[in-house]
Parts: sequence; C-alpha cells; structure tokens
Amino acid sequence: MRGLMQDWPLLCSKVIDHAANEHPLREVVSRSVEGPMHRTNYREVRGRALKIAQLLEREGYGLGDRIATMAWNTWRHLECWYGIMGIGAIYHTLNPRLFPEQLAWIMNDAEDKLVFVDLTFLPLIEALAPKVASLKKVIVLTDAQHMPETKLPNAVAYEEWLKGADGDFAWKEFDENTAAGMCYTSGTTGNPKGVVYSHRSNVLHSMIAQAPDAMNISSSSRMLPIVPLFHANGWGIALTTPMTGATLVMPGPKMDGASVYQLLTEERVTCTAAVPTVWLMLLQHLEAHGGELPDLERVIIGGSACPRRVIEAFQNRYGAQVVHAWGMTEMSPLGTLCAIKPEYAGLTGDDLLAVEETQGFPPFGVEMKVTDDENRTLPRDGKTFGRLKVRGPAVAKAYYKDQGAELFDDERWFDTGDVAHIDQHGYMKITDRAKDVIKSGGEWISSIEIENVAVGHPDVAEAAVIGLSHPKWDERPLLVCVKREGREPTKEDVLGFLNGKIAKWWMPDDVVFVDEIPHTAAGKIRKTALRDEFRDYVLPTA
Ligand code: ADP
Repeated sequence: MRGLMQDWPLLCSKVIDHAANEHPLREVVSRSVEGPMHRTNYREVRGRALKIAQLLEREGYGLGDRIATMAWNTWRHLECWYGIMGIGAIYHTLNPRLFPEQLAWIMNDAEDKLVFVDLTFLPLIEALAPKVASLKKVIVLTDAQHMPETKLPNAVAYEEWLKGADGDFAWKEFDENTAAGMCYTSGTTGNPKGVVYSHRSNVLHSMIAQAPDAMNISSSSRMLPIVPLFHANGWGIALTTPMTGATLVMPGPKMDGASVYQLLTEERVTCTAAVPTVWLMLLQHLEAHGGELPDLERVIIGGSACPRRVIEAFQNRYGAQVVHAWGMTEMSPLGTLCAIKPEYAGLTGDDLLAVEETQGFPPFGVEMKVTDDENRTLPRDGKTFGRLKVRGPAVAKAYYKDQGAELFDDERWFDTGDVAHIDQHGYMKITDRAKDVIKSGGEWISSIEIENVAVGHPDVAEAAVIGLSHPKWDERPLLVCVKREGREPTKEDVLGFLNGKIAKWWMPDDVVFVDEIPHTAAGKIRKTALRDEFRDYVLPTA
C-alpha cells in the first residue's frame, strides 16, 4: 500500500517562498561591495529573485543550464541563487581564489553560459571570458552609477538589467532530484571534480542543518555566514537561514578582524560560521584593540581542525559556544558537529576541551564508519583510526562526468579521503587526510594532531607537519612553523612544548621556521606544495 500524503517536491523555491510568506520583514543585511551597508528582507529578496528568473527565462536560459556566480556574500548573490534555481537552472559558484587556469578549466568543464560577477572580480572574468566558449553573457552585480568601463561585449549592470522585469512570474516546477547547484572541489591533487547538488539534497540538508545539535538556528537567530557561498555550497547557509526565518547578516568583501567585529557587535549577531583562520584574525584583533561579544552565542568552526586555543578563547574569554564541525563539498557539506551529548555533559576543563576538539557526531541523515584498507569496519574505541566513509541523502553518489568513480562503493559509501577515529559515544576525530598521514615503521602518525599541539605554543603562529623519507622508519615527521610577529622561538622551545603532549615516537625529527606556509584557495595548508619545497631536505636523524 502507498501512503496517502501529498506529493510536494522538495524544491529550493519553496524555501524562499516560506521565508517571504512567514518571515517577510526579517532582515537581510549586507556589507555591499560598493562600501555602504545594505538592508533588505526576505519578501524583497524573493521579489527580486522572481525578476531574475523571469529575465533568465526570457533570454532563453532554462532547465539544466549552468549559470556561474563569482561573488562575495551579499543580498545580490543570494537573489541570484534563488533566481537561477527557480527556473531549474544550476548555480555554479566559482572560487575567485583559484588560479585563472584552473578557473578556465572549471568553467569549460561546467560549460557555464552566463556569469554573475562582483565588481571585485570583473578583471578576472574579463581575462577568462575569451577562454570560455560557452559563456554568452556577463552580469555585473552593481548599479549603473558604479558600472565600470569594460571591453566585454555582453556585460550589463545587474540593477539596470533587473529593471527589465516586473517579477510577475511563477517558479518552474520539476522533479525534486533535478540539479540545483554545482561546486568544484579544489583539486589539490589532480583536476577539480564537480559536485552536483539536487533540489532535494539542498532542502533536506537545510532541514538537517538547523537542528539544535547541528547549527541550532531559529527565527530569532541572527546568522552571519562568513564562509563564502563559493566554499562547499556556502555550508548550506543560503538555504538554512531563510528556511528558519533567521536574520541574515553578510560580510560582503570584508573578512578582516575589525570588519567582522563591527558586524558581530553592530548587527547583534548570535550565530556565525567560518574557517579557523577567520577566527584567529578576529581574536588577534580583539587582543590588540579590546572588545566584547555580548550577543554572540555560537561560533561554528570547520573546514580545517579548530585549534584548542580558539575554542578556549571563545568559550572562556568571550562566552560564546564553539561548535566544531566537519564536512566536505561532497556532503553539501555538513558531516558532523560537536554538540555535547548527555554522556559528556558532566565534563569540565581539559576533559571537556578534549571532546570539543573532536569534530563531533553526525546529525540524522549522515551515516559514517571507519574502515581499514580491506574495508573492514573498525571499532568505535576513540583510538583505532582508518578511512572515514559516509553516506546519506545529501552526500554525492558520483562526481560530474563520472570522475573519481573509485571513491564510491556498491553500497553507496563515499570514501572521504580523511582518516579518523570514532569513540564509544559516536564522536569522530579527524586525524589526517589519507594522503598526508605519516607512515613511520608501519604505524600511522597524525600530522594534524601534532600541528594542533604546536600552534598552542605562544610563539608559533602556524604549524604544518609533513612526512619526509627516512632510511630506517620509511617516513618521519618534519614540523614547519611560522613564528608569531616579534617572537623568536627555537627548535628546542617548540620540541620541549610538544614533549608529553604527544606520543614519544610522534615527536618531529626536526623543526624548521619559514616566513610563510603555502595555502589552498580555501585557506587550508597546501601539503603537496610543502612536500615539494622540502623534497631534498635531509632530516638530522636520517
Ligand atoms: P577541499 O577538499 O578542496 O579542501 P572541502 O572544503 O570539501 O574542499 O574540504 C573538505 C575537507 O576539509 C575534509 O575532507 C577534511 O579533510 C577537511 N576538514 C573539514 N572540516 C574539518 C575539521 N573540522 N577538522 C579537520 N579537517 C576538516
């Protein structure tokens, strides 16, 4: 027997409709690319998104067309997403921090037909356009007054373009499994791979993400996503926030400590999300200039492992709860979040911090396991680590054009490429990326754990650990550090600091200081580049 409930396809247009109908005047506040703060609300965002949809359709775009955006987090970018999805076209977020050659490759792979671009990135699009044959039109996210001269033949100012529509338009209806969005993984090894979200996965992901043990967002939240919409589906926040009716505050192009502090305080932000680097910048700003965060309740931190000192600073000094999260572009992106279950509710001090340093447990809708190389499931004992595998309705089942098929097995488990352990209460801890783990004498050393301890040293600004070949042990760890400004730590200082905090046989064989550690476009340590840099380095123990 079939259920007798209504067919109500999970389309993303329903999310913005809900926000506009039930929370019409809730504010969407942005720092504009032009400079001033801009204030709108969900009713107006829907109104303008309908105009975008109407114009796109009139100009011949439709189901399945890839429409790129290269933009900061602002109300305009949000409108574009909903306008594009509303006709069954696909928003394709471009990360402007990638190399131009990579961007050209990605745009050609996706066959983008149109791009919405912020003023900041117009020169980049001008350089890319001749290399992307599919690209027909460029819409610059600004008004006539700020529209610069451009040699692009088909460029228009967004606000002028919008004047051509009255918004009398109905969202298109289609199957909920239709593609809604696209985002490429950064491809630190090999070519980038396209991840294709569906309307259904986006809607389910948002329902999953708002729960109390996840992002914990409601209509009374004031949410500041600092994570850009072009990173890993913007952590789903462009959908989750309107779905709950929360106020949305967006940073535009400014993510430095002072600008973030201004938004947090002036807009009374209660919940915010970004990678650890952003929080380190904010904390440095607060240390230097003083300040309090009286409204801030929750800081969601993911993308890379969150150093203990960041968790401590927010919780002990500023009274905001840190939620350490792990996810991937392939997972829409949320995988796990570190809320405190009753099993750990009694913990305090270092014991509690040790739990908060894990990436937490999955919400309903994400299944995970850790396996050995023969695909045998490993015990949940909080120490046996292996390959982390996941599945769920908002997890990729394949990449665009079937790249990387080997990462998906017959039972739909996706191999994340991360190495992790899970404890008895289900808390997962990433110990490494499979390709970064250091194999010393047949045992694995977690580079991330050593890095996390090393950045706890007061004179160390950033740390990275890589494995170098060793005649006896196969590989041994080298610790690469950037000194804090004005500080002069020595190798002995740093090793002394690590002593007792990590296993003896994990102790790096050497410490070197560099001016800069190479980063990926998403701000993560580029271990491949670091390994290249130190390829000929000989460890003193070798
Ligand atoms: P890329 O693979 O290009 O870096 P993603 O943004 O999809 O793009 O990154 C996902 C990866 O980031 C994960 O597989 C994991 O290695 C790492 N990661 C994300 N969050 C965390 C975290 N909280 N702690 C440690 N690593 C993390």
